[in-house]
Amino acid sequence: MKKILLVGGVDNSGGAGILADKETLVTLEAGASVAITAITAQTDEKFHDSHAIPAGILKMQLSSIDSNEIGAIKIGMLPNSETVEVLAEFLDQHRYLPSVLDPVFSSSSGGELCSSHGIECLTSLLLPLVSLLTPNLSEAQHLADLPSADSQDLSSLSNACLKLGAKAVLVKGGHLPGNLCLDLLAQHGKKEVVFERPRIPDGVQVRGTGCRLATAIAWYLSQKKDFPEAVKHAGDFVHAYIQRQSCSGKAFEK
Ligand code: PLP
Repeated sequence: MKKILLVGGVDNSGGAGILADKETLVTLEAGASVAITAITAQTDEKFHDSHAIPAGILKMQLSSIDSNEIGAIKIGMLPNSETVEVLAEFLDQHRYLPSVLDPVFSSSSGGELCSSHGIECLTSLLLPLVSLLTPNLSEAQHLADLPSADSQDLSSLSNACLKLGAKAVLVKGGHLPGNLCLDLLAQHGKKEVVFERPRIPDGVQVRGTGCRLATAIAWYLSQKKDFPEAVKHAGDFVHAYIQRQSCSGKAFEK
């Protein structure tokens, strides 16, 4: 069985980032190869600091991986333009592999995860190379740069993001008000697909849900599911995870 290549940052609290990605793959009984882009020091409440891994070391991690063993790529934190450039070169050489980019710009613990020049490079270099982009509402608003009247509308946001180059865009609407959480998948030349799930009270407080969703989607894509199927299965997986966290009270004890 092929592995998922996880590219991203370490959150030393374990709530998000590549440790959460790896945990997700263990639950799905899937294997992982890892390339670390940054080390962060944070708790659920406070972001202390972040150290970007030098581009040369990232490049070496990627070149040490046997790409014949990889079935899909999941990309999370990319701290700066240098790491984005390394990734763009790697994706360009591996266009045959499905890739999921979760564009993490900031952490709910309060830290900046990507420099502003890094975000510009990610938009121009990386988006045209990825299969699926999975922004949350604020990340999609940042990337889409729409007039404010359209900036809460998932369809306008996902279509504006789609124009930036990815094959498909999933805008996650969990931060919109309402009893339902809506996510919208847009693909070039295909009908939009809306995924609807009941809101779990305080579910938005659970950390690392975006990381886990993108990782699970990458896994289902590696299993030859199409975008709607992969997003549906991964969404169900993360919904069950949030429910478990919520029942255990773990996410909310402060
Ligand atoms: N820290 C790292 C290293 C991450 O990769 C991410 C998300 O991908 C976060 C923090 C943000 O996590 P959250 O906003 O879920 O707290």
